[in-house]
Amino acid sequence: MTSLLRLTPAELEEALTALDAPRYRADQVLQALYRRCLGSLDEITQLPGALREGMREVGLTLEAPAVLREVASDDGETTKALLALPGGSTVETVLMQYPRSGRAPRSTVCVSTQAGCAMGCVFCATGQMGFERNIPAEDIVAQVLHFQRLLAPRGEHVTNVVFMGMGEPLANYDETVRAVRQLTDPRAFDLAQRAITVSTVGIPRAIDRLAAEKLQVGLAISLHAPDDALRRRLVPTARPNSVAELLDAGRRYFRATGRRVSVEYALIDGVNDSAEQARALARVLRGAGVHVNLIPLNATAGPFAAPSRRGVREFRRILNEAGVNATVRIEKGAEIAAACGQLRTDVDAASGTGPAASPVRG
Ligand code: SAH
Ligand code: SF4
Repeated sequence: MTSLLRLTPAELEEALTALDAPRYRADQVLQALYRRCLGSLDEITQLPGALREGMREVGLTLEAPAVLREVASDDGETTKALLALPGGSTVETVLMQYPRSGRAPRSTVCVSTQAGCAMGCVFCATGQMGFERNIPAEDIVAQVLHFQRLLAPRGEHVTNVVFMGMGEPLANYDETVRAVRQLTDPRAFDLAQRAITVSTVGIPRAIDRLAAEKLQVGLAISLHAPDDALRRRLVPTARPNSVAELLDAGRRYFRATGRRVSVEYALIDGVNDSAEQARALARVLRGAGVHVNLIPLNATAGPFAAPSRRGVREFRRILNEAGVNATVRIEKGAEIAAACGQLRTDVDAASGTGPAASPVRG
């Protein structure tokens, strides 16, 4: 069985030619998949029944994820879906909307690349689940199409995709890159490469590989500590990679692609948020040309908490005064556990959405 969403336009043409279909059929299928976001082969009614039958016989499939639950934040700007993907995994996917005056909102989908995650970052709900399985490219694409289906009737469109949901994208390298290509192929979903950001816990060899793909996607490196000892406590499986090696890989990525690299730093009260740690971070980042996103820790079941607002401002001020570009990321959807690091798919995620959440469906 092969999902139609897995095939590049060229592969799709080849598959249809093998079924003796004329060339234009591939364009009709691509329109159906990526413009109209249809969710089953039967819905592509422009295709002759015999061709649909032939496609089924050679194992080509099309199936939309089942929505197990969908909740929206009170302001309606964040929506989180628990999706049962055709490939068999259940993941959470988030849509974040940012109003823009005079035009449709920026609509960013945060996709999951793995069910669970093997990296075990101590402050991350996904990491605490452990690793279940990799998500195939077609099911990464399906997460984006799910929200496109929601937006289309309002005349809106997915404008950005961030690989910041569950899992470590570079530990599922081939499927991540295949999904990026599909989402940005002008004949497929046709998103600008610059509208995509891949966030990684930092695997230097995989970062180099990604740089060599010559894609224009943004890269975010999740650093969280200025020194190796602390980083190894927070990101236990990153042990073989030092902070210096990681930042070097970031520099090489910037040189190869021209895309500025950002550094993510989850601020944890009493752990990595002291003035001395801010100064140490400024020292290691000086001249690296990176932008730092400070993320006050989002609550998970673990023992960690975010610093006070004042503490966050102070950390930022120290970085800025040392010449390091840093902003505090405004997290959306924390009240429905849809913010960074809060995604999980166990019973709690399916039931405990908090009083502020209003069910959209399911
Ligand atoms: N595995 C990748 C991408 C998914 S995590 C990575 O680690 O980068 C997306 C972002 O959420 C990362 O920057 C991660 O460090 C951050 N994050 C994880 N848990 C968090 C939490 N509890 N609060 C705030 N950010 C968190
Ligand atoms: Fe995995 Fe990223 Fe969570 Fe770490 S922060 S456990 S790498 S998803």
